[in-house]
Amino acid sequence: NTAGIAELITKNEILPLYRPRHKFGHKGTYGHCVLIGGSYGKMGSVTLATKSALKVGTGLATAYIPECGYEVLQTAVPEAMVITDDDDELAEINLDITPAAVGIGIGLGTSTKTVKAFEEFLKNVTFPLVIDADGINILAKHQEFLEHLPKQTILTPHPKELERLIGKWDDDFDKLRKTKAFSKKYHCIIVIKGANTITINQDIMYVNSTGNPGMATAGSGDVLTGMITGLLSQGYNPLHATVFAVYLHGSSGDLAAQKSGFEAVIASDILSNIGNAFL
Ligand code: AMP
Ligand code: MG
Repeated sequence: NTAGIAELITKNEILPLYRPRHKFGHKGTYGHCVLIGGSYGKMGSVTLATKSALKVGTGLATAYIPECGYEVLQTAVPEAMVITDDDDELAEINLDITPAAVGIGIGLGTSTKTVKAFEEFLKNVTFPLVIDADGINILAKHQEFLEHLPKQTILTPHPKELERLIGKWDDDFDKLRKTKAFSKKYHCIIVIKGANTITINQDIMYVNSTGNPGMATAGSGDVLTGMITGLLSQGYNPLHATVFAVYLHGSSGDLAAQKSGFEAVIASDILSNIGNAFL
């Protein structure tokens, strides 16, 4: 019934969250994350996300993709491991490792067999989880799956995906009210992406201060999904991983735009500036 609690996220809020790497750390210290998604013609999404998870410092990254993406992934991200399902789209999701974090949904598709695999996967999740893109679209269409969401799951919808998930809103106030209600009901963190991305955790809103319109470009959100997953796998808690990644993603986009101007920024440029954007 009120505007609610909002916190503006600037460098001052992010600095205390940052956990510097320590001298004796090894790759096992920084977690193994898995990015699940991709389908024929949409392998770029999971490629960008996997690379982004590595760029924020995850120790190990595995891409779990359909067979058709095997060569693409191994060539574009030689640092990643790859597990393939036997098709042009995922029909089964069986992880024989226990990852530190998983990001799922990017480029995933929404065919019947993929929806089934996604449902089975959700029922068995025991690790921190980020759901994006087609993962959100599947949840929107099959709201009965929402009861399986582990607490503090992170959802990262762009405006259309958010509308599918929570329904149409009257105005910005109504949008925030509905998103908070959804976050409370399903105990999830929702990232409302756009200019000044807002992360919603129950009643509290975290308003990001970085980013620019050059970031309104294909694949930009896939980079964010990988960054959140990569921070989660290093042991940041879900809320900290989210606000940190959103802030860093915006700063990386700002550095990319300084170099090339807004129009020329592409998702790979956001990705390649992550290192310089780190605190
Ligand atoms: P997606 O639509 O999934 O590729 O996500 C787009 C990404 O770009 C999100 O992280 C948005 O926050 C970001 N983005 C899109 N438009 C803008 C904008 N005008 N200003 C800042 N960031 C933006
Ligand atoms: Mg997206």
